[in-house]
Parts: sequence; structure tokens; C-alpha cells
Amino acid sequence: AYESMTTEELDAAIAQLEADVERLRAKGLSLDMARGKPSPEQVDLSRPMLDALASTSDLTDGGVDAANYGCPDGLPSARALMADILDVDVANVVLGGSSSLNIMSDVVLHGWVKGVRGCEPQVLQAQRGPLKFLCPSPGYDRHFAVSANAGFENVPVAMGPDGPDMDEVRRLVEGDPAVKGIWCVPKYSNPTGITYSDETVRRMAALKPAAPDFRIFWDNAYVVHDLTDTPDELLEVFGAVAEAGNDDLVYEFASTSKVTFPGSGIAAVAASAADADDLRAWFGIERVCCDKITQLAHARWLPNAAAVRAHMAEQARVLRPRFELVERKLTEGLGELGCATWSHPKGGYFVSFDGPEGSAKAIVSLAAELGVKMTGAGATWPYGCDPRDTNIRIAPSYPTLDDLSAALDVFVACVRLVSARLARA
Ligand code: PLP
Repeated sequence: AYESMTTEELDAAIAQLEADVERLRAKGLSLDMARGKPSPEQVDLSRPMLDALASTSDLTDGGVDAANYGCPDGLPSARALMADILDVDVANVVLGGSSSLNIMSDVVLHGWVKGVRGCEPQVLQAQRGPLKFLCPSPGYDRHFAVSANAGFENVPVAMGPDGPDMDEVRRLVEGDPAVKGIWCVPKYSNPTGITYSDETVRRMAALKPAAPDFRIFWDNAYVVHDLTDTPDELLEVFGAVAEAGNDDLVYEFASTSKVTFPGSGIAAVAASAADADDLRAWFGIERVCCDKITQLAHARWLPNAAAVRAHMAEQARVLRPRFELVERKLTEGLGELGCATWSHPKGGYFVSFDGPEGSAKAIVSLAAELGVKMTGAGATWPYGCDPRDTNIRIAPSYPTLDDLSAALDVFVACVRLVSARLARA
């Protein structure tokens, strides 16, 4: 609507919007919509797990003593739980620490320092020319940091409603042996909230990489994080890989971070049998075993994927009103203006927002001035560089509904003012 106004109308609108912004500034707010953290209400739902173990509990699990060293792959019941959640063969599931991001970083460094399954270490290959990691964008900033930190050049690939642009992915993976990995959040992607279509999963699984040490980093972080009763369905990737006649192509990751207590749970990687052995050998150098007491508490309290789903339905009851509020506030505040689009996810933790070209940095910076912290504009792109400067990640999970409502009023006011000023420019 701003685009179709006369200069006089626009000047009047801008004056009005500036007055709105000053009124909000005077409130002296301090609100945070920056990171995808569960709210205290959600986390509290997991408190009963803390009673699953007591000083008198039997601490053995499938013949393994959780109270001592041993069983480096993880406790049998905890591995079975993660295999059930991911719908994969338990034989190829390895647990490690409490953070999936930590395992991802470790697996990337394993290829870099040691080499994937006997391939030349990537650090040596890199001396002959830069190695690349594909980064579907907008995507997860911490993924991009992991590959950049190891020494890869991050290469953006467009994200669409069905997943990454597979023509481009295929061209790069099959044509360039310097491409060693791709980051994927296949269900309720961070931040766009989309789930890869069956065709995208099948095309991913059928890739014939130019590099033998190329792997897909399949971060199934939101595998059980449905918000509605009609959840997205993601095709199971190892089945698709087998159907395509491939074998060693995918490392899959997940954790209980947004199921129970973030940073204090179980994290897992699943891979082909040979890749799982390769990773076990690497992990075996770095640790004797990981925290089996935490694994035991999880497995006792959440014995299978059905129990996890029931628990996640409780969390969805807390989260859903927050996502509904985002949808309502954005529709009411911006719907008729036509200057922005946003995602309508059925799960996960984020709403992905796109304003007019050249607006995102200005919106985030104005919101910060008014006391509302958002994820940095550009963070969803490699090197923080969103080429059109449109994308902003909204993380509505942590604030209370009242705080979220106030933060969204500020956000909408900022979008309106920045959009009007851009239309005037
Ligand atoms: N992967 C994705 C896509 C995420 O969004 C997050 C957290 O926001 C993580 C991984 C972090 O998981 P963890 O706590 O298991 O390291």
C-alpha cells in the first residue's frame, strides 16, 4: 500500500508511524525474541523426569551399569529411544554428550582432521584449493558457523517451499569434488518451518557426489516438534538412500534438547553401518563414554517414541498460542499493506519473516532501539550476508504471551515505518 501512495500521503503516513514508534520507545521495553528456547512453562513439563532416578534406583540397563564407565555408544534403552524417534536401525545409532550441535561440529572436524573413511584429511585437500559446504538459506546460523569454523567456504543455496533448490544442489554436489557437505534441517526447517517434500528427500538420497567424502548433514532437530494435530510427514532418509541404491551418504542428528532440558539431555548421530563404525573410532579417541545417568533418566521416563510424542503434545499446548499470536499480530498489522510475507509453520520453533528488499537490518536495529531484541538480520545466511536484506527470524517460544504481544507490536511498528521510508526513498 505504501508503494501506491502519493508523496504527500506517504509523508503523512511516515509522520504518524514515527509518532507511534516514539510512543513505544517511551515504554522502555526490554524483550527478547532472538533465540529458539523453550519457555520455562515448557521446561517445567519435564520436571517429573528428575524423579525417575533416586539413590535407591537400579542403575543397570540391559545389563549395562549406568553408574560406571563402559558402553561408549550409549545405554541400550537410550539408543533404542533415539532410534525409535528417528525411525532408524538402532545398530547404527551412536549417542554422544548432550548436544547434537556438538556432535555435528565433531563429525565435521573428524572429516577435516582425520578424513572420512580413509579419504585424505580435508585439511590437506584444502591446501590445493578451498573446500565447500552447501548452506540452504535462510538456514541455521550455528550450522554455518560450524562449517566456517572448520575451514570450509560456505556456499548459499536457495530454500523453497519443498526444501533446497535440488537442481542447484545436484549440480554442485555431482559436479564439484570440493563440495564436502550440505546442512539440512529437513523437518520444520530453521527458520522457514517447511518440511522437505518426498521428492526433495528422494533427490537428496539419490545424489551421486563427485567427492567420496561428501556427506549430507541431516539435522532432524524438530523430528517430534509438531504444533498441530495434522503434522508434516518427513520421508525417512536412510530408506530413501537404500531405495536409490546408495549407501554411505547421510549423517543424521537429533537430541532431546527441546524435548526435555536443553543442554542436559541425549544427543545422537545415525549413519550407515560403515560410517557409524568410522565415527565410533573417532569418538573412541576423545572419550571413554558419555553421561549414562542422564540417558537412563530419559529412557526410564520416556521409554519410547510414543511417550515422547505424548509429552510433545503437552508442549505444543504451551507453544501453539504463541505461534497463533504471531500470525494474528502480523496479519492485523501488516496483512493489508502487502509489504511483507511470513511462514505459517506447523511445528518447530520459528517464523521466518521477509520484509521489503533492503529492510531487514533497519527493522532489527529500530526494534533493538525500542527494547526488542531479534535475531540479527542476515544471521540466517552464510557470513551474515542476506543478499536482499529481507529475512528476519522470529523466535516466539520463550517470552510470555504478554511480552510476546508487546514485542510484536514493536516489531510491526518497525516494519511499517521502515517499509514506508523505503517506499519514500
Ligand atoms: N539444530 C537445530 C536446527 C537447532 O535449531 C538447534 C537449536 O536451536 C540445535 C540443532 C541445537 O541442538 P542441541 O541443543 O542438541 O545442540
